[in-house]
Amino acid sequence: MKEILCALVELQDLEDSRRDLRTLNKQLVTLKNDNEASRQMFQLMLAERNAQLDEIRTFCKEKEAEIKAAEDVARRARGRLSSIQSQRELTALNKELDTARRMNAQKSEELLKLMEQLEVATTDFEKKTNEFKTLDEQMAAAEQEIETKIKEGEADSGSQTERREELRALVDRPTLSRFDRVIAGRDGVAVANVVGNTCTACQIAVSPQVKIRLMRMATLEECNQCRRYIVWREGLMPAVTDVEDTPDAVTDA
Ligand SMILES: [Zn+2]
Repeated sequence: MKEILCALVELQDLEDSRRDLRTLNKQLVTLKNDNEASRQMFQLMLAERNAQLDEIRTFCKEKEAEIKAAEDVARRARGRLSSIQSQRELTALNKELDTARRMNAQKSEELLKLMEQLEVATTDFEKKTNEFKTLDEQMAAAEQEIETKIKEGEADSGSQTERREELRALVDRPTLSRFDRVIAGRDGVAVANVVGNTCTACQIAVSPQVKIRLMRMATLEECNQCRRYIVWREGLMPAVTDVEDTPDAVTDA
């Protein structure tokens, strides 16, 4: 009987790891979707800011062209200075020079403001670009972590399928079919451990008589409340329960 009990416990463990793998696959899909949404949002924001930068650069070019035009006007006016014949012409020329100078000063001031604006916006854009790069790396690392776990789980699943068949061969048909029914009907758990006096699947206490029978390991017991098979795991497989604790993966953040 102890052999059957151990086989049932191990079958439940195999079922748990298959369920873990399914959970991980679901997690990965959700995470990838979330990450993709974040990436798209961030990239859209970056594209908008980049368009703003382009706009400021275009304004700068316009101002530079206007300044150059004002300088051309002034240069042409000065060129005519030697051929001036009358006071009237001189006054007109000075007026023209004055206008060009004022235009130059005004446009230079506007250009300076734009250049300052451009510098702030460029710095901000670089900062946001770096933030995105960091976020993207973090998201990729998180995906990678789950993908690694899934690969490890899948690598084990071949040998697990084999082991599963070995174990099932040890258990009689009625017990097996009941095991399968309960697995399907009760959240994938057909075998529950009793810790102290409590069934860990439904958290209901078992009677002292049942606990004694569990400790004898000579009968197949079930929980009166949740109808799952119950075992006293610590007594059945003391070594295995130690291995149960999976070491935390060491990851560098
Ligand atoms: Zn129970």
